[in-house]
Amino acid sequence: MADLPLRPELVGEEPYGAPQLDVPHRLNVNENPYPPGPAVLADVARAVSEAGAGLNRYPDREAWELRADLARYLGHGLGPENVWAANGSNEVMTHLLQAFGGPGRSVLSFTPGYSMYPEYARNTHTAYLTAPRRADFTLDAATVERAVAEHRPDVVLITTPNNPTGTSTPLDVVEAALRAADGLVVVDEAYQEFARDGTPSALTLLTDHPRLVVSRTMSKAFALAGGRLGYLAAAPAVVDACRIVRLPYHLSAVTQAVARVALAHAEEMLAQVDALRRERDALVGWLAGRGLEVAESDANFVLFGRFADRHAVWQGLLARGVLIRETGPDGWLRVSAGTPAEMAAFRAALTEVAAEQT
Ligand code: PMP
Repeated sequence: MADLPLRPELVGEEPYGAPQLDVPHRLNVNENPYPPGPAVLADVARAVSEAGAGLNRYPDREAWELRADLARYLGHGLGPENVWAANGSNEVMTHLLQAFGGPGRSVLSFTPGYSMYPEYARNTHTAYLTAPRRADFTLDAATVERAVAEHRPDVVLITTPNNPTGTSTPLDVVEAALRAADGLVVVDEAYQEFARDGTPSALTLLTDHPRLVVSRTMSKAFALAGGRLGYLAAAPAVVDACRIVRLPYHLSAVTQAVARVALAHAEEMLAQVDALRRERDALVGWLAGRGLEVAESDANFVLFGRFADRHAVWQGLLARGVLIRETGPDGWLRVSAGTPAEMAAFRAALTEVAAEQT
């Protein structure tokens, strides 16, 4: 690429992505380990076949029926005019920054945070600003207010539960951001379905806040990472802004059909969420019991540490067929909640690696 007239800010950049390795236990990208069951598969096959009969035509540009289904799933009195959908919440977030960020504008988020955020910002020519979370990874109103006052961002991005820490943010902090900021406040709730009981969603704030956006995905709890479907809920005007920047026909007929089948089977698709929450809680307890530091988690993963050489631990686990993620602050590692068998493999591997290291 060195000879190409590439945009200067892309020179030397690598494509984003965790290693996709063919190992027995993949616990590195917070997927739901449970594949769809036979009833869902049969309906997917039927829906794809029906969509196939019309593949010579462009799909519904507005994805109206899918958006209606998503609105019904979210509840809170939302309708299709409040919902926007795209190929994963990565694309939803890109649409938001294309519409509300851009040259001369900025987005503020709180670190440690999701490693794609700086890339959305770079790709949309939006300045990327950060402020640190507290030492225990929580976020309080005062921190948000200070950071907003200092940076005057056009978009504030709050991730709850946060990736890679799993930390939830109380709604009063989101309200503080809405009061302090003039711009959009985007709450990324990719992992909200995994939150412990009594962790309310920012969806409850939507009716009173026209500048609030709640982003969700079907990749995690909904077990549809391969279907690529993310969405947001907001005031209709925010949705209309996304409609301006999206590419025409951005959601394929097949994507729309598959996502609608998954939503029609919401109960089955979400059936393992409770089991994964239990695995997550057990994992936190087990890691803490080993004397490790563990971040409290409301997501389907756990951040733990600290290791003098986290790469050696990651490598040791990989050598035993367990792939986790080397991410977050120095010395910490992140592991996704998996099936009981995957968790047993992780515990056995970590026990061996720890024994080797001492
Ligand atoms: N937001 C957060 C916080 C995430 O962790 C992820 C996935 N790792 C996403 C958004 C994007 O998910 P998707 O594009 O699959 O919807």
